Amino acid sequence: MKAPLLEARDLDMHFAITGGLLQRELGRVRAVTGVNLALHAGEVLGVVGESGCGKTTLARVLTGLYPPTRGQVLFDGKDLQALSAAERHGMSRRVQMVFQDPFASLNPRHRVGRILEMPFELHGQPAGEPRRRRIEELLALVGLDPQHLQRWPHEFSGGQRQRIGIARALALQPEVLVLDEPLSALDMSIQSQVLNLLVELQQRLKLAYLFVSHDLSVVQYLCDRVAVMYLGRVVEQASTKQLFAMPRHPYTQSLLAAAPSIDPRQRRTQPPLQGDVPSPSRPPPGCAFHTRCPRAQARCSQEVPALRSVAAGHLAACHFAEETLP
Ligand code: SF4
Repeated sequence: MKAPLLEARDLDMHFAITGGLLQRELGRVRAVTGVNLALHAGEVLGVVGESGCGKTTLARVLTGLYPPTRGQVLFDGKDLQALSAAERHGMSRRVQMVFQDPFASLNPRHRVGRILEMPFELHGQPAGEPRRRRIEELLALVGLDPQHLQRWPHEFSGGQRQRIGIARALALQPEVLVLDEPLSALDMSIQSQVLNLLVELQQRLKLAYLFVSHDLSVVQYLCDRVAVMYLGRVVEQASTKQLFAMPRHPYTQSLLAAAPSIDPRQRRTQPPLQGDVPSPSRPPPGCAFHTRCPRAQARCSQEVPALRSVAAGHLAACHFAEETLP
């Protein structure tokens, strides 16, 4: 298999909590801990988990928006932190992000034409007829009309704004799109239209997607592989088919059991998740899921389970993954 295009190696992203007159460090929010992930060219990798599990922070570290506290982000085999500012700027063209909130991610004081010109300017590409034609092509690619270039963001619906955000991300012909919950702020009726657009673009432009979502049905539809996160760690990773057919981690099993399904064959019998996600500033010792796990045993509160192979291409971080089949 070819080397991954985007890779996380032993990645930590911890934020200091400071207080007092001297702004001393009082603690740390462990948003991401020990994450290893690989995204290959043309692949769609889903990252799922409840809110607060660290998936958005992970997406931001992978796009270079946050420098990691520890570990490496590699793009095309090169460590982003080891690159010069100019090299990192050049690399940023190849990895672009689509944000969750299409209302906040577009500058309300710029017309759409100006919003779509900015990526070209930031990367020193000259103004002129070719750029104007490319911007019109981008609008057509996401199903909008060239006449929309003169409009302001507030004149569009949520779905149209998300299309503009996608067009902006595609402006410089990236190889990877990191999509942070791109559908969750949209009405249900619009979600499927934007989802179909993402599927079409991925196939047509042969893009790799890192798709962050809490919606398991969307992930099942769109993704080739899935990584499940809990309290900053990846607890299970497998092909979409394997993960939905035979989840091995009790957390994944509970998430799948809680997801609504109209197909009676897909309804599951696991007990629903109890309680809230613990604070990432004070994660429980041992397996961080032990405070909510219906299968927890004494060992679970003492020993952090390693993410290990439980079947071909299937990883799970549970001491009892072999005994926890649903
Ligand atoms: Fe549950 Fe223990 Fe497995 Fe953690 S290690 S998921 S607490 S059974």
